[in-house]
Amino acid sequence: MSVGAMRGLRRAARWLKYRFASRALILMYHRVTALPTDPHLLAVRPDHFAEQKEEIRRHCIPIRLQELIEALRERKVPNRAVVVTFDDGYADNLHEAKPVLEHYGIPATVFVTAGHVGNRREFWWDDLDRVLLQPGTLPARLRLAMKGRPCDCELGDARTYTENDYRQHRDWHIERQDDPSGRHRLFRTLYAGLSALSGGERETVMDELLAWAGAEPTARRSHRTLTTEELIRLQAGGLVDVGAHTMTHPYLATLTGAEQNREIRHSKERLEAILGCAVTSFAYPHGSITPESVAILSEAGFVSACCSHPDAVWQDADPFCLPRVVVRDWSWKPFKRWLRWWIDG
Ligand SMILES: [Zn+2]
Repeated sequence: MSVGAMRGLRRAARWLKYRFASRALILMYHRVTALPTDPHLLAVRPDHFAEQKEEIRRHCIPIRLQELIEALRERKVPNRAVVVTFDDGYADNLHEAKPVLEHYGIPATVFVTAGHVGNRREFWWDDLDRVLLQPGTLPARLRLAMKGRPCDCELGDARTYTENDYRQHRDWHIERQDDPSGRHRLFRTLYAGLSALSGGERETVMDELLAWAGAEPTARRSHRTLTTEELIRLQAGGLVDVGAHTMTHPYLATLTGAEQNREIRHSKERLEAILGCAVTSFAYPHGSITPESVAILSEAGFVSACCSHPDAVWQDADPFCLPRVVVRDWSWKPFKRWLRWWIDG
């Protein structure tokens, strides 16, 4: 057979796989709440979340992550199956998302950053929003060092961010190409710099940044994470499972093997100590993964791990690198179109 004919056959096989094979879908949420600003696009409004659940009930088969893993073992993915997941461990997962999930009888897995349970600090990406994108005046010059690299920034006009600036730019988010002010440019620069740091290094820089801004190291009510007692309530009732998401939410690929081991094992141990049951699923923070991460997870007793690669779940999916698709703050109509595109192809 010629090379061209072989290629044609392979293309046809791939087309057949994607056209007719069973596929499931793992949805990735972070927050269910209405926020005045959402620079990381993490929140879905509660009414939109309910509309999305209604559509899932109508058009798909909602199943638990564990059921999907068992189906993958038998290489039989239930067609149109949908698994709902949340990352990070925000308090609104209990107060806003869980009642809707209960109303529609839809199970979910919440991947919790164990070091943030009962912690009175915001996630570092939310602190950046609090310091830089809320109205107020900052010192004229910011000097920080990240991984030995100095960040020396004169804020100029961006020193002051007025109520009017805030209102004007409230829809801005990090995926946009434009940076309408020096505050937004600095937000982007610091986000990139901080992303590359390990948990301890990042905490040091964030403490310096908060001190520079004169901001308290506390959490806004709107941005707080689950307490220990709330985590227990989240899992109670059997509809919501808890999975691990490391201790400090680092990019695992930036850590040594020993650091990865600590982040992964400690998060499992801490959640199990709080919940009194086995925690066997994991999600990679920022989708960051190395071959070593998978070996550590497997040895630690995890049976599955979700990444952030957007795809449907086919029967040959790797249970330690399950693809997920991010759900945005869509009302029923755009969600329905988006869901059918993924589920029906
Ligand atoms: Zn996360």
